[in-house]
Amino acid sequence: MAAEPNTATDNGEATVDPDFIRRAVELADLNAVRVALYQHTGDPELAALPKALELDDAQRALLIDKAVAWLEQHAGPGAPEEPPEDELRVLMNMATQETMGDLEFTARRELPAFKPFPLMTSWTDGTPELPEGFRVVIVGSGFSGLATAVQMEQLGIPYVLLERRPEPGGTWTINRYPDIRVDTISITYEFAFEKDYRWSEYFGKGPEVRAYLDMISKKYGVYENTRFERNVVKATFDEARDVWVLEAETPDGIETIEGNAIVNAVGTFTNPRLPYFEGEETFEGQFIHPSRWPEDIDLTGKRVAVVGNGSTGVQLLAPVAADAEQVFVFQRTPQWISPRDKYGQPVEPEVRWLLDNFPGYWNWWRYMAIAALFGTHGFVVPDDEWVAQGGKWNPMDDQLRSDLTAYIHAQTGGDQDLIDRLVPEYAPFSRRPVVDNGWYKALTRDNVDLITDPIARITPKGIETDDGSVYDVDVIITATGFEVVQYLFPAEYTGVGGRNIHDYWSKDGPRAYLSMMVPHFPNMFMLYGPNSQPLSGGTGLPVWYVIWAAYAAQLIVRMIEEGKSRVEVKESAYLRYNEALDDEASKLLLLNEEGAPDKNYYVNEFGRLQMNAPWYGPEFHRMCTEVDWDDLELA
Ligand code: NAP
Repeated sequence: MAAEPNTATDNGEATVDPDFIRRAVELADLNAVRVALYQHTGDPELAALPKALELDDAQRALLIDKAVAWLEQHAGPGAPEEPPEDELRVLMNMATQETMGDLEFTARRELPAFKPFPLMTSWTDGTPELPEGFRVVIVGSGFSGLATAVQMEQLGIPYVLLERRPEPGGTWTINRYPDIRVDTISITYEFAFEKDYRWSEYFGKGPEVRAYLDMISKKYGVYENTRFERNVVKATFDEARDVWVLEAETPDGIETIEGNAIVNAVGTFTNPRLPYFEGEETFEGQFIHPSRWPEDIDLTGKRVAVVGNGSTGVQLLAPVAADAEQVFVFQRTPQWISPRDKYGQPVEPEVRWLLDNFPGYWNWWRYMAIAALFGTHGFVVPDDEWVAQGGKWNPMDDQLRSDLTAYIHAQTGGDQDLIDRLVPEYAPFSRRPVVDNGWYKALTRDNVDLITDPIARITPKGIETDDGSVYDVDVIITATGFEVVQYLFPAEYTGVGGRNIHDYWSKDGPRAYLSMMVPHFPNMFMLYGPNSQPLSGGTGLPVWYVIWAAYAAQLIVRMIEEGKSRVEVKESAYLRYNEALDDEASKLLLLNEEGAPDKNYYVNEFGRLQMNAPWYGPEFHRMCTEVDWDDLELA
C-alpha cells in the first residue's frame, strides 16, 4: 500500500512526502518525466541524457533527483500551454531521441495533445449561417461515432446520432465476456480531448471503457443528440434534394430520419462470425459466442470447449479455466501471442498523483506510449537481401519471432509437445497481434487441454475431431471472430442512380477512397471503413477516429461555406487510390507467403488486403488531413 502523500507541516500547510514523490517518479515513464521536466526548466543536463532504457545508474539517479527536487517545489495541478512549433519539435525529438522529418512532425505534432481538441477541424472564418434544417446523421455511438459527434459539437453543426443499442459505447457494450479489457495501454486508447480520465488500471477493463464512453457521450453533449434503439436498415440518397433518407428499426416500428450527410461509424467487429459445424443442432449443451455472453452464466464445475485463439479466445481462457472443471482449447492455427508491460496492473496511487500534479507528464507519457508504435512499419516491409542470406522476412521481424518463441518456451515451462503445437510457422505481425492474458500459462493447468486436431463435427454431448477423439462438454464457447469484411452489412445503402453499395463492392469486396468515401454515394463517409486500420507507424486507433471524423467535417464545412449541397469522390480518384493501395499492399508481409495470407482476417476471400491501410503511417495521416480537392466534386 502507498503511504499517504500529504503530511502536515508546522504552519499547517500540507506538503507531499518526498518518499512518495520519489516512488512516483521511479514508477513513471522516465522518458516522459525527462521531457516534461525539460519543458519546465530547459535544463541542458536533461537534454544530454539518453533514452530511459539506456540510462546508466548515475544518469538515472540524476534524472530522478532532479524530478523529485522540482516536484517538491512546484507540484500542483495545471496543464502546460502548447509550446511554439520550434520548441515543440525540440521536445518531440528529445522524447524519441531522433530527428523527425517534416512529414513525421506534421503527423505527430498534436499527439502530445496540448490543444483542447487536437486534430479537430474548425471553420475557415468563424461559424457561418447554416442552411435551414441542415443536419448530419451519425450511425453508431462507439469510439468513432462519438469522435464524429464531438467534432460536430465543436463546429456547432446540428446532428443526430443513431445507436441500435440502449446505451453508448458500441462494441464495448456488446462484448462483456470475462476479463475483457483493452490490449493497448489506455493512455493511448482514449480521446486526446479528455485529459483527465482516471483509469484504475493501465489497460482499462471492459466495464471501465464502457463507463468512459458513457461519460464522453454525456459530458460532451452527445447523449442528448442520440436516439437509442435505432437500428439502421436502409439508407437512400434522394438525388432531387441531396438528402439521405434513413430507415431505422425501433421498438415501435420503422422510423424515417433525414440528413444532409451521413457518417457511418458502425464498427468492424459488428457481426459475429458463427461458423457452421456439422451436427451442431444436436448439441445438448450451450453455445456461447463471446459477444453474446450470458450475464448469469456460471461455469463452475462445467466442462467447456473454447474454439478459437484470437484476441477474444486468448483473453477469456484464464478466467474460464479458473472456474470450469475441464477446458478443451480448440486451436486451428497457432498465434503469436505477446506479453504487455503493466497489463492487468492497477495505476499506482503515486502515478495517479504524478498525473494530477506534474503538468505535462500526462502529455508526454501519452506521446511516449504512442511513440512505441512509430516503428511498427518496420515489421511488415520486405528485406530481400536478408532473405537471400537465409533470413525469414526482415531482421526486425525475425528478432521478434525469436523473442516470442522464447516467451512460449518460458510460459509453457519447456513442454516440448505444447511448444511444437504453439509456435506458428508464419511471421509475427502478419495478423492482428494477440496479447497474452495468461493464455500459455493456462494451457499448462491440469484442467486445460490444447486440442489441435481439426473439429470434425459436433455431437449431442460435445466435439469430435478428425482423429475420432470425442470431447464431452456442457458449454462450447465459439470465440470464432467477426464478419469483418461485411462493411455496412446487412443494411441496404442506395446511392446515385439506384446503386446498391454491396453490388458496387461485389467484384472483390468493399473498397473506399481513403477508407471513407465511395463514388456515387455523395455526402457519405465511413469511419473505420475498408482499408482503414493503419498497419504501420501507428498512433493508436482513437487518434485515427478523430482524424477521419475531422476529414468528414472538413468536407462538410467546405460544402456549407461554399453553399454547395453535394460532395463526392470522383470515380477516377477512387480507382487510382485503390490501384496504388493494392500495389503497396502487395509488397508487405501480409500478402506474402511468409505472412500466411490465407489465415488472416485482414485479407478477404478475394486475396485482397481488406482491413488495413498499407501506407506508412505519417503518409496516411497526410492523405487524411490535407484534403486533395481535385479528387472530389462539390456540386
Ligand atoms: P479472430 O481474431 O478472428 O479469431 C477467431 C478465432 O477463431 C481464430 O483462432 C480462428 O482460427 C478461430 N476459428 C474461426 N472459425 C473457426 C472454425 N470454423 N473452426 C475452428 N476455429 C475457428 O476473432 P477475435 O478473437 O474475436 O478477435 C477479433 C478482433 O477483435 C481482434 O483481432 C481485435 O482486433 C479485436 N479484439 C480486441 C480485443 C481487445 O483489444 N482487448 C479483444 C478481443 C478482440 P484461425 O486462426 O485458424 O482462423
